Amino acid sequence: MARIVMKFGGTSVADLDRIRAAAAHIKRETDAGNQVAVVVSAMAGQTNQLVEWTRQASPIHDAREYDTVVSSGEQVTSGLLAIVLQSMGVDARSWQGWQIPIRTNNAHGAARIEDIDPTTLIERFEMGQVAVVSGFQGLGPDNRVATLGRGGSDTSAVAIAAAIEADRCDIYTDVDGVYTTDPRIEPKAARLARVTFEEMLEMASLGAKVLQVRSVELAMVHGVRLFVRSSFDDPHGAGAGSQSNMPGTLICDEDEIVEKQVVTGIAYTRDEAQISLRRLPDVPGVSASIFGPLAEANINVDMIVQGASDDLSKTDLTFTVPSGDVETALSVLADARDQIRYEDVQSDGGLVKVSVIGIGMRSHAGVAATAFRALAEKGINIRAITTSEIKFSVLIGADYTELAVRTLHSVYDLDNR
Ligand code: ADP
Ligand code: ASP
Ligand code: MG
Repeated sequence: MARIVMKFGGTSVADLDRIRAAAAHIKRETDAGNQVAVVVSAMAGQTNQLVEWTRQASPIHDAREYDTVVSSGEQVTSGLLAIVLQSMGVDARSWQGWQIPIRTNNAHGAARIEDIDPTTLIERFEMGQVAVVSGFQGLGPDNRVATLGRGGSDTSAVAIAAAIEADRCDIYTDVDGVYTTDPRIEPKAARLARVTFEEMLEMASLGAKVLQVRSVELAMVHGVRLFVRSSFDDPHGAGAGSQSNMPGTLICDEDEIVEKQVVTGIAYTRDEAQISLRRLPDVPGVSASIFGPLAEANINVDMIVQGASDDLSKTDLTFTVPSGDVETALSVLADARDQIRYEDVQSDGGLVKVSVIGIGMRSHAGVAATAFRALAEKGINIRAITTSEIKFSVLIGADYTELAVRTLHSVYDLDNR
């Protein structure tokens, strides 16, 4: 007997047929004698609709009320799945975040889970009952529902798995694992059998939305073995109950991976914008005068490039921010112009950051150089570069996204691996 968490994403509970298919996967596990906690997302597209309604009600709105609205999608699917399970003879009960409770901090709209009391869930397991928990939501210190940020049901699942000391946390989605890149953009993408927590963290942070970043962080800290698999697989196919015999991707520690690749995957993030400040005084403190006010305005600055200016006592500085933050960033910079003393500012949207990730980069030189050469041969201009231990990223024009991803995918031999 094992204790398992099974998480079903939006497409896996998109309608009653999909909910019945999810229930069949759950019944297989309970029939095998396992203790099961299920975490559900809202039906596919539902959360987008709810977010849109809050925006239409008023573009600027109270984050607590936003959470009241957008958390409701998960309440529907948890109840429906419990009803379907009961109708199949499986003892099941739905749970909202506040009923367990899943305690979060007060950052409404992007709350972090602080504590989960596992007592009730464990009591119910002992009665042989399946707990169907609404993902994406918890209870803030103000006693109000708080949501965990988009994609947050993954994090609910991992946090519950850690709290109840589950043996497995299976993430059921619409792909049968983590691929070398987004299979929607590169049909030659290959499924990875195993990925390290570190690589998955980079892939998720750099745009592979198959798992929420925070869920990978939590899994790494608590040693939760995550298995990404498809809810569209036959629930009763050969080996369906096990992780080892089913298609899927195990996210695990580095020492569980025998064959280490130099490059594991390619990720990309759209909607990047670049801001350039021209002819700043080249003196200590100039960076602080720029990035201090931007940080206070909660603007996430990513890539930073400093270049020489035509005038040697001056410098040029270029950095990237999410496209949606450009207007705010420009107004912050205008307000701080007297301190920063730049002569000119330019901004450019419509950019994409493409990143190459692989734990083998630690011990291999020249990995990035290969990419720069390959992109140059395709006539793709690189506007900024950042590197770190197990990844590097290039900033390019959005029109080149597919070409760049496919070029890098092939140059690192990831095609149909
Ligand atoms: P869910 O609703 O189940 O949480 P998501 O849409 O959040 O599902 O995540 C699954 C999607 O992530 C896939 O359909 C796929 O398009 C996308 N994706 C992006 N990068 C990758 C990748 N490297 N491997 C697998 N899927 C990826
Ligand atoms: N329903 C939420 C969202 O769409 C949470 C999730 O699906 O993980 O962001
Ligand atoms: Mg998701």
